[in-house]
Amino acid sequence: MLAVKGGNPVRTKPWAPEFISSEEFDDLEKEYVLKVLEKKRVFRFYSNKLADSEAARLEKLYRERISSKYALAVNSGTSALVSALVGANIGPGDEVIIPAYTYIATAAAVLIARAVPVIVEVDDTLTMDPQAFEAAINEHTKAVIPVHMKGIPCDMDKILDISTKHDLIVIEDVAQANGGFYKGKPLGSFGHAGCFSFQQYKVITSGEGGLVTTNDDVIYTRASIYHDSALSYWGAKLFENVDSFPGENYRMSEINAALGLAQSQKIDSIVTKLRQIKRTIVDGIKSIPHIQLQRVPDPDGDVSYSLIFYLANTDEAKEFSELLNAEGIPNGTIYNNGIADRHIYVNWDYVLDKRGASDKDNPWNCESYKGNVQYSKDMCPNTLDLLSRSISISLHQNLTEEDCQDAIDAIRKVANHFN
Ligand SMILES: *Cc1c(COP(=O)(O)O)cnc(C)c1O
Repeated sequence: MLAVKGGNPVRTKPWAPEFISSEEFDDLEKEYVLKVLEKKRVFRFYSNKLADSEAARLEKLYRERISSKYALAVNSGTSALVSALVGANIGPGDEVIIPAYTYIATAAAVLIARAVPVIVEVDDTLTMDPQAFEAAINEHTKAVIPVHMKGIPCDMDKILDISTKHDLIVIEDVAQANGGFYKGKPLGSFGHAGCFSFQQYKVITSGEGGLVTTNDDVIYTRASIYHDSALSYWGAKLFENVDSFPGENYRMSEINAALGLAQSQKIDSIVTKLRQIKRTIVDGIKSIPHIQLQRVPDPDGDVSYSLIFYLANTDEAKEFSELLNAEGIPNGTIYNNGIADRHIYVNWDYVLDKRGASDKDNPWNCESYKGNVQYSKDMCPNTLDLLSRSISISLHQNLTEEDCQDAIDAIRKVANHFN
């Protein structure tokens, strides 16, 4: 009997809390951060020993992980995206295509670069729908930002084919998918640039922080210039044919870099555990009728901290979610009109209202912009439909075989009720 009807719940023990990067802090993080304090050097360009910098070490680690020619540490995922966009010479007058399901910072970064975001549907992978992407391309389109949302690799073959055909810049948003792969290649290595975030909710954290990977001399140099308004003072070696221009201060502090360095050494062990856990649960539920698993373009590359499946409609999803919660497996639907989730375009108020930082500083009204992008809350019905029919369960790297079996049993028990 279902737990809501007075039956025994499948599980009475608490389920693991949502995975959070900071839980992994141990002696390694302490050692690395304390070393910075002992060195009394928190500014990465302090003294002339530029290589003896934690930020430089962090960049080296990502160059090796991603096999990219360059990596640039910055102070957030948002600033990584802005630096990459400015680095690729994207700005006023340009349209940049982004998915309807991503953190609002993806859209904000486009606007901060003074370009205009164009919002397109996601498909049953909950990442950018390649067909919707291609349909949105026009003469103003300059770039696309595929987002590997919730650790799921986008269908990069299709996205790259379309981008190449239309000569577009590809900037991967890897903020939620550090440690992920697509067909054996690390995420962040496919586009002209890859943008990471090390904020606390991501796979690993540096406190706050971000990083840009690229193989392009000009993108790297321009992104570097933009991340420090006085970069040339510090003796950093850059590609010589690029003129300087004003930048922000997006530098990463050595304390953050040290934390990020210790955490980044743990990515593979965290993700290996998560992958095994997700695989076990997926194998146990894939044959259950009535639920449809989220399609994952490359399951072996999935970072695997979230398990998502769809029900036939919103009402069934809501009911399924409640019943499953009662069986002791915490979960939720993604779009339920309740919380103003900033990962869903309908809640991006300043984008939908075309509001810039001021009336005179507005990418939609600027002289250079000749396009006419339109937004409305019902512009991406497929995305809203999928998100409202989805059940999402957060996975933790310490879940045991027994925990996985409980999840399988509970999902099966609740699904039976729908037959
Ligand atoms: C978190 C996030 C960002 C922004 O990263 P911050 O470090 O918070 O600035 C960008 N895109 C996506 C998809 C994110 O999840």
